[in-house]
Amino acid sequence: METKRLNEEELNTAVAILKADGLVAFPTETVYGLGANALSEKAVKRVFAVKGRPTDNPLIVHITGFNQVKTYVDNIHPLAEQLTEKYWPGPLTLVCQTKKDAFPAVVSAGLSTVSFRMPNNDKTLALLNASGLPLVGPSANTSGKPSPTSSEHVYHDLNGKIEGILEDGSTAIGVESTVLDISDPNQPPMILRPGAITKEQLEQDLGIEIAVDKHLIKESEAPKSPGMKYKHYSPDTRVMMIRENDWEKAIAAARQQALKVGVMAGPTIVNQVQQNVTTVFTYADDSVEAATKGLFAGLRALDETNPKLDVIYVATFPEKDLGVAYMNRLKKAADQQYFE
Ligand code: AMP
Ligand code: MG
Repeated sequence: METKRLNEEELNTAVAILKADGLVAFPTETVYGLGANALSEKAVKRVFAVKGRPTDNPLIVHITGFNQVKTYVDNIHPLAEQLTEKYWPGPLTLVCQTKKDAFPAVVSAGLSTVSFRMPNNDKTLALLNASGLPLVGPSANTSGKPSPTSSEHVYHDLNGKIEGILEDGSTAIGVESTVLDISDPNQPPMILRPGAITKEQLEQDLGIEIAVDKHLIKESEAPKSPGMKYKHYSPDTRVMMIRENDWEKAIAAARQQALKVGVMAGPTIVNQVQQNVTTVFTYADDSVEAATKGLFAGLRALDETNPKLDVIYVATFPEKDLGVAYMNRLKKAADQQYFE
């Protein structure tokens, strides 16, 4: 099949594809999503097949606002409306108890809850409005690989496997949304996956304490969503995390073993190490925001060098604010490996 690369003027084509149970990848502020009609079991099953995604990993349903949530959800949480008013459109996904048979069981991997998000991208909001459909939108990549932050990444992974890509520039944030469980109206919200809406920000805005799923604190604990157990975000090349004070030692160790090393870090670190490594991917500046935006693109770029690298060294950041989401993705990509 030919994968059509669609622009804003071709929205009608994208809508027609989705209405015929086809797949159209779409841009968001987090990463590109793989869009399909959430009400069509056939279309949703194809999403799992195309990505090679395990069927016990539930999908997020993309919608145009709180009104749509109300039509699908039972026992709505008292904070739901306030959360959507404050953060939508934006990188916050809300896990809710849905009405029976609101969606085909494949969408939520058989769970009684479904997660919802209103993405902050004009083209994708126009697509949602024009189609009138709720759209599933897992990251538009091969399952387990770094998520796509540009339409080029989507094309690389899914060319010939999906009908279309609604094109836009690189995504602004670079990691997936914060997943917040509000399915029990009698419990405080709980973060299941860290993202750009941080625990600190939610606590400040809501004036309450936000819980964090046990498995995010202790890797050995079973996650609340089965999908979270999978290895994720990993290039084929080995990835190693380098703490701020360990760069000199890490580079010396690699030179001793004659390893071909790629480095991902901000300009300050890159300037210190680049004479002694094979290649670098420099984040736009030294901030954690720039690192988060560049993380997946860097992993993809350094995984495809010719000749192949032996190892990719990636800078760590303190685990606070956006650093929590950055380190959550990086630890998975690195299979927890730090240079020690
Ligand atoms: P992705 O689409 O790759 O960004 O992954 C979506 C993630 O959202 C899943 O891996 C789950 O961790 C989480 N998620 C989606 N739906 C639910 C749900 N009903 N309950 C708990 N977690 C969910
Ligand atoms: Mg994903």
